[in-house]
Amino acid sequence: MGVMADEPEIDEYEDGDEDHTLDPEARARREAAMERIVRMGDPVLRTVARPVDGFDGELRQEIRWMGELMHDAMGVGLAAPQVGISHRLFVYRVEPDSPIIAVINPELEWTGDETELGEEGCLSIPGIQVDVERPVHVRIGGVDEFGEVVRVEASGLEARVIQHEMDHLDGVLILDRTSKDQRKAAMRTLRDLERGQTLA
Ligand code: ZN
Repeated sequence: MGVMADEPEIDEYEDGDEDHTLDPEARARREAAMERIVRMGDPVLRTVARPVDGFDGELRQEIRWMGELMHDAMGVGLAAPQVGISHRLFVYRVEPDSPIIAVINPELEWTGDETELGEEGCLSIPGIQVDVERPVHVRIGGVDEFGEVVRVEASGLEARVIQHEMDHLDGVLILDRTSKDQRKAAMRTLRDLERGQTLA
């Protein structure tokens, strides 16, 4: 990953400064996880994902693996298309010590009127952070890894993460949701990062 390892490439929605205090082992784990995560440019990220219909050991293994990758990559959310699987499911964890939550076949049930502009990054677009306006309060319904109904009502960062991950299931990325100017600047940064990488 060359030069990109020093960029704030965490799927964090704030900033990536803690990156620089990572011990070598955590850094190596994160780089290994980043290698498994699909980057923008891969068609799977632009595909509307398929609903999950089998709730078996294979699905639970897929979810466990995604949770580990998200943890190692130091992300707060990860959607199945980001690991190359066209499934309507995502995992997330906003607080570092809370359990990882998996939501399968999520549907947006309700959004509040209030919206907020916030900075978002994406594990599939490392090195980029842009402002995205989203509803502050949402409610979603879906099922868990056993096929049991789950309903999540969330605000603030949690609501933002949920909406970001649900976008991935419809092939939508943060660059589609930001201003034209920020999108242009982000594309320029991506080109520079790529160039730096080929020179490294
Ligand atoms: Zn993302």
